[in-house]
Amino acid sequence: MELTLKTSGQFDFVDITEQINGILPKLSVRAGAVLVFSKHTTASLVINESEEGVKEDAAAFWKRLLPPEMDYRHNQLRQDDNAHAHLLAMFLGPSVVLPVKDGRLDLGTWQRVFLVELDKPRIRQVVIKVVSI
Ligand code: ZN
Repeated sequence: MELTLKTSGQFDFVDITEQINGILPKLSVRAGAVLVFSKHTTASLVINESEEGVKEDAAAFWKRLLPPEMDYRHNQLRQDDNAHAHLLAMFLGPSVVLPVKDGRLDLGTWQRVFLVELDKPRIRQVVIKVVSI
């Protein structure tokens, strides 16, 4: 299954927790694990709290870690301006594997699943697959 998401810009946190819970019955999974995978080089998946301060602190930290205005080779060679987004996507990773219990994500009280936009506003695809052993 795939989700199609529209992001509003850099560091938009799109909460996809309930969309994943809605897909689980269609995947006939009651228990086990699901893989949630971003099909992009400048968007990542993270698990955290849906609280504005946390999101703003994360965005400020990521900007300090990888300032967009630094001199990156990708920006010179590709006439692109999103090297910082590529590097951050590698740092955060493209996927998460989540436990499923009783047909729903088995998350902690404050945990939510987000696709984080690291680049400009975009249409994003997220793959959801049952992980079987
Ligand atoms: Zn690029």
